[in-house]
Order: sequence, then C-alpha cells, then structure tokens
Amino acid sequence: MNKKKVIVIGAGFSGLSVGAYLAKNGFDVSIYEKNKTIGGRARKLEIDGFTFDIGPSWYWMPEVFENFFNDFNSSVKEHYELKRLDPAYSIFFNKDEVFKIPANLNELYLLFEKHEKGSSIALKQFLKEAEYKYNVSMSDFVHKPSLSAFEFIDFRILNAALKMDLFKSISKYIKKHFSNPKLIQLLEFPVLFLGAKPEETPALYSMMNYADLVLGTWYPMGGMFKIIEAMAKVAEQQGVKILTNQTIEKIVVENKLVKGIISNGKFEDADIVVSSADYNHTEQHLLEKEYQNYTETYWKTRKMAPSCLMYYVGIDKKLNNLEHHNLFFDESFDQHAKEIYDTPQWPNKPLFYSTCASLTDRTVTPEGKENLVLLIPIAVNIEDTEEIREKYFNIMMDRLEYLTNQKIREHILFKKSYAINDFKNDYNSFGGNAYGLANTLKQTAIFKPSIKNKKVQNLFYTGQLTVPGPGVPPSIISGALVAKQITKEFS
Ligand SMILES: Cc1cc2nc3c(=O)[nH]c(=O)nc-3n(C[C@H](O)[C@H](O)[C@H](O)COP(=O)(O)OP(=O)(O)OC[C@H]3O[C@@H](n4cnc5c(N)ncnc54)[C@H](O)[C@@H]3O)c2cc1C
Repeated sequence: MNKKKVIVIGAGFSGLSVGAYLAKNGFDVSIYEKNKTIGGRARKLEIDGFTFDIGPSWYWMPEVFENFFNDFNSSVKEHYELKRLDPAYSIFFNKDEVFKIPANLNELYLLFEKHEKGSSIALKQFLKEAEYKYNVSMSDFVHKPSLSAFEFIDFRILNAALKMDLFKSISKYIKKHFSNPKLIQLLEFPVLFLGAKPEETPALYSMMNYADLVLGTWYPMGGMFKIIEAMAKVAEQQGVKILTNQTIEKIVVENKLVKGIISNGKFEDADIVVSSADYNHTEQHLLEKEYQNYTETYWKTRKMAPSCLMYYVGIDKKLNNLEHHNLFFDESFDQHAKEIYDTPQWPNKPLFYSTCASLTDRTVTPEGKENLVLLIPIAVNIEDTEEIREKYFNIMMDRLEYLTNQKIREHILFKKSYAINDFKNDYNSFGGNAYGLANTLKQTAIFKPSIKNKKVQNLFYTGQLTVPGPGVPPSIISGALVAKQITKEFS
C-alpha cells in the first residue's frame, strides 16, 4: 500500500517531532525548512571558533526529552551528555546581594529561611502543590489535542482541575505563601518563560517552579543545538527527508482539501500538510482567506509573549562572578513587565539575562575565552533599529561590569545582535515574537489556536503557538500530539 505523503512546514523542535512520530507511524514525511539550517528558534551561531545557541538555553523538564528518544528506542545519553547545573542560576538583586540557586533542595530551604523566617516550611508546601499540578498537567492535560472542551470532562480531570488554581493569579498565590520581595521575584521568574505578567498567569503554572527548583536546570554538553541534531537524526532514521532553503509560499487547497504546497515556486503534492511555522504566518500568508481558521482581527486581539533583544558576544578572557545562567533583577520587575505588556515600548530600566555556556562547556569557545549571550525581553512590534540595539547593549554592559566587578568591554572580540526584525525575517514571526502566545487563562488549552484546520480536513498546525504552548518541551509534545491526531484520522 502506498504511504500517505505528509509535508511538514518548518524544522524547529515541533516540526522535527511531528515528522519523526508520523514517519514511525507509517507516513511518508518530508520537512521543508526556509532557512539554510534546521532548528528554527534553536539554531546555532558559529563565529571564529565560538558557538552560541541562538535561542533557548534553559533545559528544563528532562523527562520530556527522555520520553521523546525512548519512543524511538533510543535515549538522551545515546545522543548527548546531560549535566545538571549547580548552582542552577544566579540572581543579581544588586552588587552585594546575589542569590545562587542551589540544585540541592535542603540548601534551597536554608536560602529561603535566611531571607524570611518560616519560609522554608511555606516552600515545602508550595512545592508539594506545584508537584501535584506538574504531575496532573503532564499526565492528563498537556497531551490533550484540546479540540473540544469535552476532552476535559472526566471526573478525575475535573476534580484535579479544581485543585489546580486555574482561576487564581500566580502572583497572588505566591504572595499568599511568601512576603520577602526577593523570594517572590525568584518564584515569579519562571513565568517570564510563559510570556505574561504574573498577575495574568494562572497559579496552575506554579508547576514551573517545580520544574525549576526540584527537577532542575540541565545543560546538554555541546549546546542546545545538540538536541536538534539528535532529533533530526532520529527523524531521518525513521525515513523523514529534511529539505532546507525551501520557502513555502502557498498551501494549495481545492474543494476543501489540501492538494500540496508551493515551495520556491514549485508545486509539491501532499495528502496531508502540517505547519510548524508561526500560526499567523501560515494562516494569513500561505492560505486563502476562505480557509483560514482565524481572522486578522483575531490575531490583532491576541496577547503575544514578548520578543527580545539579544547579543552574542565573544570575549577574549575568562569572566569572573558569573554562573552559566544569570538573571539581573536589579531594576523593577513590575515596571519592565508593564513596558512589555501594558504600554509597549523599550523599557526604561530593563531587567536582563545572560548566559555563559563556556563556563560549563570548554568546547564552545577557543581556549581561555568566553561566549556571552545577553537578552532583554521586550514588547512585540516596537521600533527596532541598530541605534536602539546599541543603546541597550551599553546599558547591559554598564550594569554587567558594575555588578560583576570586572572590565568586559575592552575584551570584546566581536558582538552580533538579534531582535524583532530578525525574528520576522528568519521565522516569519508575528510581530517579531520570540515565545509565541502569552499563556493567559484565555489563551490556554481549548482557547489556543487549534491544531486542526476547521475547514480543510487534511491541514494541521503544530508548535509553540498552539497546544500545549511555548518552550522546548511543549513544542516537542505539540509535535507528538499532532502526529497522534493525524494517525487517528488518517491511518
Ligand atoms: C530567544 C529565545 C529564548 C528561548 N529560551 C528558551 C529556553 O531557555 N527554554 C525553552 O524551553 N524554551 C525557550 N524558548 C522557546 C523555544 O525556543 C520555542 O518554544 C521553540 O523552539 C519553538 O519551536 P517551534 O518548532 O514551535 O517553532 P520554530 O523554532 O520557530 O520553528 C518553526 C520553523 O518554521 C520555519 N518556517 C517559517 N515559515 C516558513 C515557510 N514559509 N516555509 C518554510 N519554513 C518556514 C522557520 O524558519 C522555523 O525553522 C526560547 C525562544 C527564544 C526565541
């Protein structure tokens, strides 16, 4: 019997994941990627012997990666060495107040207790509840295709949902347990990954604190791109063909059925198309209006997760007083969040983040050097010019030099920036978003853009803009659940 032919648009985490699972399930899969290299938002940048991960750098929820490889009779350790970071990260509140978040829970309790009497007991309870939410979400919620509310009508799930604090904000929930502002900020930080203000994020997402503080922060030696290489290898072993430099210009639909795609001006037929490209791009630019799931107005009213300004910097010496991951929270968190979400503008006094993978991994720079990545989360769709980028580079450098007590500028070998315009050019990103849609309650589960086209039965969507949401583990899960849905409908 002829295998059904599937074309996947995009070779990021979700595209590779859906492709690998579909090929395993007996489909003939080709992935078309517009860029010259695979990985999407997780590509790598190589300059003069320095390697940088362009996008993600936090490896959380290690079991999601393990499960992916196990599904293909493989394992993480066959592909890359995983190292738990300890400390997981540093938070600079000011020059003299730097929290180093230990991997060991008992040390973490001591750190809490030092800053707020009785808070270690509160933390134990907080993490117990977070563990419950994490386990229920990972076993019952995230694997739902979220095509209908009926999927959630099951006594066990409904019962669990009541205990999941869906309708309380995580901000209030954290403040119920803790009063020290720095501990509050520490616990609110993972919400930044979800792309919404803590006041608008359901307390359900305290499960991210469990992922952070209990399951830990890991690093794949060689960099995050190692995961992409490993997933591409697994996909190819299943028979997936990965084609790069292939820009899809149109999804061809006739009589409410996808017939194929046009890539680089050439028609390719397909029985099924799955787009892992940004949802808005797929709908508004590749599909005729009559087949779109959502209107332009729908997109204009979505709350997007932030974009970001990044700098990849090669340093000609070893740096001091930094960890692999560093959060610079020496300015107001609330003010910066307002400037991202409420009154979109470049932040006056930004918080920022830096990663220095070469502190853990000697293979990512030449001997005696450091690869520094700096990142400021910013609102989507604001003005993006070289002058503005440079201004913020200087703001970050001034603070970095001051807070870590060392000269860095004069040791810079090169620097390269990346921001809104690059997200748009490289990934057809809506508004230049980095992390997709904000995970507010109104944009969770069945309220997220659907994985299925409602008018064309053989067109599907995967990736960080649909369920379960943004982040590397959710994108991998998104590919798996879309493959499951297609297999159910078409096998
Ligand atoms: C700066 C940054 C930092 C992040 N940090 C973390 C982190 O530390 N930890 C974490 O877990 N997550 C992090 N994330 C989020 C995570 O990287 C994303 O959620 C994930 O990579 C999204 O994968 P995806 O497959 O959905 O989309 P993408 O990676 O965007 O893949 C979509 C692909 O489609 C391609 N494409 C688009 N249009 C077309 C077209 N017309 N034709 C052909 N191909 C097309 C794009 O080029 C792209 O390769 C970060 C993201 C960014 C940007």
